Amino acid sequence: MSDGRTIIGIDIGGTKIATGVVCGTRVLERVLLPTPADRPKEEVLHQVFASVDLILERTGHHIEEIDGIGVVAPGPLDPRTGKVLYSPNIPALRDIPLARLMRERYGRPVLVENDANAAGLAEALFGAGAGYAHVFYVTVSTGIGTGVILGGKIYGGRTGMAVEAGHVTIDYEGPLCNCGHRGCIEAFASGTAITRRTKEKLRQARAPSHLLDLVAGDLEAITPIVVGEAAQGGDPLALEIVEETARFLSIWLGGMINIFDPDIIILGGGVSQWGDLLFPRLRQLTPTYSILPRAAEVAIVPARLEADVGILGAAALFATP
Ligand SMILES: [Zn+2]
Repeated sequence: MSDGRTIIGIDIGGTKIATGVVCGTRVLERVLLPTPADRPKEEVLHQVFASVDLILERTGHHIEEIDGIGVVAPGPLDPRTGKVLYSPNIPALRDIPLARLMRERYGRPVLVENDANAAGLAEALFGAGAGYAHVFYVTVSTGIGTGVILGGKIYGGRTGMAVEAGHVTIDYEGPLCNCGHRGCIEAFASGTAITRRTKEKLRQARAPSHLLDLVAGDLEAITPIVVGEAAQGGDPLALEIVEETARFLSIWLGGMINIFDPDIIILGGGVSQWGDLLFPRLRQLTPTYSILPRAAEVAIVPARLEADVGILGAAALFATP
């Protein structure tokens, strides 16, 4: 994707900073450092620099051999100036002119992008979306991140910040979302929302659920992965959660098809590991919520680049479609 160029990809997450040297589509080496999310922003920046220095040391690359540095982070940021504005989950990431500071330190080209947009780009170029012109990417993990890739390019809208589709509401009286609004799909179907809904159901349940056995009675240990395991084993309550989640996502994806009419919808993140519990149902239900007559032709597939998608997404910013 990067024409044999050597790129450093940095994925700043809520708990860790993942950094890799990427050559072509191959991650040569990875470094993981904790994100000092609650510390002053200088410390986050220092940790990002430390990760670059460490990976150069490990791979034996000199900084002059690096063709570019791509950085991805969650939350609103301005890809055109390379400035991180703020991040709901990483308080320290606020008003940081990341691209400028990185350029000053390393003297290499630096590109900064929203993590979901970049992950969508990597999937579109050399993951599940390779060969498709119109890609809608969604990652369902702690929150719901989305990206639209058209002809191998991120669609950023007027300000470069477009396609925060996780905050499209499907119910104006729905549960309160982290963004301050009600009924966003993130408040219904993110990993956090799935966990919350499962706990609520377990508290109200009359019959015992196998789910509780899986976590030894500890409600705090419930995760979407555990829900998936219980559903796999036929637990009715877990199956109900999966079915509801499939319906919420389908209502929303039907709307996304109405707007974007993509060739393919790629779904990644922890919840995509529900696999055959989820995807056949999404394929069945989603077209019924779209008004486009050929909505059923839109492929709905799992993401392919899971483990390295952050690093590859950051490196993909230097790809020329
Ligand atoms: Zn929201």
